[in-house]
Amino acid sequence: GSQRFASSFKAASLTIERNTECKPKPEPSTLLFGKQFSDHMLTINWSEKGGWESPQIKPFQNLSLHPASSALHYSIELFEGMKAYRGVDNHIRLFRPMLNMERMHRSADRSSLPLFDKGELLECIKKLVEIDQEWVPYSQDASLYIRPTYIGTEPSLGVSRPGKAMIFVIIGPVGPYFSTGSFNPVSLLADPAFVRAWKGGVGAYKMGGNYGPTIAVQNEAVKRGCQQVLWLYGQDEEITEVGTMNLFIYWTNEKGGQILFVHIWLFFHPVIFLLFTQFKPALVNFSSVDAEKELVTPPLDGIILPGVTRQSLLDLGRSWGEFKVTERTMGMKELLGALDAGRVLEVFGAGTACVVCPVGSLLYKGKMYQIPTMQNGPDLAKRFYKELTDIQYGRTPSEWAPLV
Ligand code: PMP
Repeated sequence: GSQRFASSFKAASLTIERNTECKPKPEPSTLLFGKQFSDHMLTINWSEKGGWESPQIKPFQNLSLHPASSALHYSIELFEGMKAYRGVDNHIRLFRPMLNMERMHRSADRSSLPLFDKGELLECIKKLVEIDQEWVPYSQDASLYIRPTYIGTEPSLGVSRPGKAMIFVIIGPVGPYFSTGSFNPVSLLADPAFVRAWKGGVGAYKMGGNYGPTIAVQNEAVKRGCQQVLWLYGQDEEITEVGTMNLFIYWTNEKGGQILFVHIWLFFHPVIFLLFTQFKPALVNFSSVDAEKELVTPPLDGIILPGVTRQSLLDLGRSWGEFKVTERTMGMKELLGALDAGRVLEVFGAGTACVVCPVGSLLYKGKMYQIPTMQNGPDLAKRFYKELTDIQYGRTPSEWAPLV
């Protein structure tokens, strides 16, 4: 077991075998997600006996796996999703890549796969992107998607910690998420019959096993006329994530407790009570001033994937200091109540694929609820989108976007 923790591969020992038959690059406007790959890939093998081998960059090619490989049987597999962007200055940038490395490291630990040095893996990935730099689209609407993957390759059927494993990284150009250039709101199916992750489970890790079972639910959403799934959890039907995005709600919150307190206090002070009944508008005013604009997202309580975009929106929102930013659970009842009271301003998903994705409607227990995200701009979603893409494409200098 000690080898699992003892050592790491080193980027300095990378070997590079160049592809002599490079493919033509596709037009950025024709790109479909995950269908095109570059000319090279990175592989790093590990075995119990030999430890980590030297990382290799080599021509993009099929893998050769023993049919008993534990990835194929017990889903000992995890992955990451990140992007490289060609900036206005023609330099290539990543976006907070160490957050992906740290998440991958946590997923590896939970998968009983050998650990590694996060900085060394990032250096290897940067080298791969550099070698295939012409694959980073010359476009501020497109980017290069990076898919680090880690599999158990143990060639035996025992359900035990793999004695062989492989990290590989493949990359390929991806187009804009919003093809028309403007935000298109999505409709969501919220059905508590389906559960993505649960307390004590592995929803907080980016394991392949979390994703395969969601496809049938996604198909069910489409069958019911929705585009994506709003994942609910538990007795209170907590809202957790949307599709493969974290969820944000921007609303005017309620300080019901304090308003009730004012009422009780007035009841016991007849003189003031009389005064207030004379000046009722003042009381109404008091309560509306007391409510505040708030950005809410579910907390990292083990059933939420800790998104890099999620963290970035929280960091930005807090640094602006213009509204309250809160990580807390919210049940369907509370959300629908706020919607009914007209307090919900914007609902949007957040993830690497789209940055932010506005939500326009919600199908819950056979009823379609409209969400006024688009009617409200969506001002906040657009602001986040601009702020993050400005950083990614080098229009705003930031420590969040290191050069490759
Ligand atoms: N939730 C889930 C379930 C996801 O798969 C993803 C995509 N990694 C996200 C949220 C968003 O994470 P990120 O911002 O790191 O892309």
